[in-house]
Amino acid sequence: MIKLHDLEFKPFIEQSAIEACIERMAHEISMDLSDEVPVFIGILNGSFMFVSDFVKKYPKPCEVTFIKLASYEGLKSTEDIHRLIGLTQDLSGRTVVILEDIIDSGNTLGEVYRIFKNENVKALKIATLFFKPEAYKKDYKLHYVGMEIPNKFIVGYGLDYDGLGRDLPEIYQLKSTQHMTNIVLFGPPGAGKGTQANYLKEKYNLVHISTGDVFRFNIKNETALGMLAKSYMDKGELVPDQVTIDMLNAEVEKNAGANGFIFDGFPRTNAQAEALDNLMNEKDSQIDAMIALEVNDEILVKRLLERGKTSGRKDDADESIIRNRITEYYKKTAVLKEYYAAQNKYYGVDGVGNIDEITERLSKEIDKL
Ligand code: AMP
Repeated sequence: MIKLHDLEFKPFIEQSAIEACIERMAHEISMDLSDEVPVFIGILNGSFMFVSDFVKKYPKPCEVTFIKLASYEGLKSTEDIHRLIGLTQDLSGRTVVILEDIIDSGNTLGEVYRIFKNENVKALKIATLFFKPEAYKKDYKLHYVGMEIPNKFIVGYGLDYDGLGRDLPEIYQLKSTQHMTNIVLFGPPGAGKGTQANYLKEKYNLVHISTGDVFRFNIKNETALGMLAKSYMDKGELVPDQVTIDMLNAEVEKNAGANGFIFDGFPRTNAQAEALDNLMNEKDSQIDAMIALEVNDEILVKRLLERGKTSGRKDDADESIIRNRITEYYKKTAVLKEYYAAQNKYYGVDGVGNIDEITERLSKEIDKL
């Protein structure tokens, strides 16, 4: 993450991906132009890094020059394009390739075409490293496009935010400002995660996602996912990671505008924890804390057998399945304590006592976040 002026940006396109893209463009353009000696014209300021790297990779003789136009003010592309440095040489009869760092609205391109209207060039081609199709409002043909990117503000590799960021060798994307609070409610089966999540989601206006509940809902509705999950759940084993991760991603997507999430029963493996970090990162967010309810095993077994009398859950009814779920927890899930502790995000809370007391203990940790 980097901060430029008042805004935060996150890594978006690595240097190696930019290099590979330019290599491809240089090759493609040189093949098309065959023995022509083109004049490459960079549009300053943004294109200086692209032009420099491009001509180094261009495998044949070429000429390079620049024109200077200004279009951006802060974050918005404006209609008003200023011509600060125009053409300084006669280009009649030449093949000209414009090298743009980015084309979004296409306004700058309009000015480029106005500049070349009376120049009698042999051919005028447009090449851009980045292109935002969602923002493009013009009809000018783009002959060479390096990468299509979503309509988000980017900096780096020549592109700036109010003067800063041009020097960065890779591309960064503006972080959205929506702030979420995301909590992993952790603990062995029977620790009381579901019960507590129901209180906490109201208190903090968070969306509660219990992967166990989502699986049970799918089993009840006899979906393909339910059928798949059932065989594992009935034995007290974990459902395979990829199935669970895909399902969790879909649940998060369904709640795009949420203030934040309480994850209950997820993650249960390292792969799931990493997938969750990636998902949060895509949302410009993060897991703020893992709050764990600590309860000893014999109390867990007693609680689950008690719950089994009314819950209708097959995996609560049989002591050996309950013990298998607890064993699965220690074998695969308990290691996640270290995963979050390494990031200073682990908070242990005593999970024995009455419900209100425990809610109070959990709230104390959440309020500190
Ligand atoms: P729970 O309601 O959280 O006790 O989950 C009940 C069962 O659903 C577990 O024993 C697993 O079979 C399955 N399950 C729930 N969450 C996960 C997960 N994150 N990864 C794999 N299996 C899960």
